[in-house]
Amino acid sequence: MKTCIAVVLLLFGGICFAQAAPAAGPQTAAAYPESEAQAAWRGLAAGYVRKALKDQKLDRDRTLNARADVVMAAVGAAVAAIDPRFAKDSWKVILIDDFGYGAAAFPGETIIVDATFLRTLQLNDDELALILSHEAAHVLAGHASVKLSFMANYLGKEKVPTAYTALLEFLSKDAYATAYRPTARLQEREADRIGAAIFFATGYDSQRALGVFDKLEYLETREDQPDPDSHDAATVRKQAISAVLADLQRFHASRHPGPR
Ligand SMILES: [Zn+2]
Repeated sequence: MKTCIAVVLLLFGGICFAQAAPAAGPQTAAAYPESEAQAAWRGLAAGYVRKALKDQKLDRDRTLNARADVVMAAVGAAVAAIDPRFAKDSWKVILIDDFGYGAAAFPGETIIVDATFLRTLQLNDDELALILSHEAAHVLAGHASVKLSFMANYLGKEKVPTAYTALLEFLSKDAYATAYRPTARLQEREADRIGAAIFFATGYDSQRALGVFDKLEYLETREDQPDPDSHDAATVRKQAISAVLADLQRFHASRHPGPR
């Protein structure tokens, strides 16, 4: 399985949101040391958790949290099998009510999931595994650091001398997200491809997992005025991820005849 995933990742333009040069986005040198960029993002994640704690928004549903932990452990194990940089890492999933983003990944192997989103979509474990795999893929691909380097290039490093100031500035104006959107879209596509490979290694059910895009498509049609989004439409994403999964299945079957 490990070899199989590694080959597919090579086929799709290189593995790896944190350390290695990403296939998506401008191939410019990192503007800040990796440790500094990661510390800035970890600080933001810690800030979200502190605020949720203060506002009593950390989700207290034990069953839901236990489910999320089990799925996160499977995804973390898949990541470890694929990328040796994460072999010893333990991933955390934190459920926050009304977080505002469906899910977000942070360096430090932390994924925050909007518990309201999870309930609204009635996500099953397979669907949750696909979402967590996508989020983990952002971390593997170093996307968070690319965003901070973008800010340094966009504004000049004298205006954002540290990774932390670049992050604060990025969050301060919607205009930055708009300028970053073309890169963000490439990163989302990359996270879908790498995430599909991670998901495949978890052993969760692909067909059931892909159902999440039917739910997202339904939400898209219901939104009166959807915000501009970095993601492709749900149907497009479903197709792209299905194609990667089909390639992986074919490759796996060719090397391991018989039931998987
Ligand atoms: Zn994403």
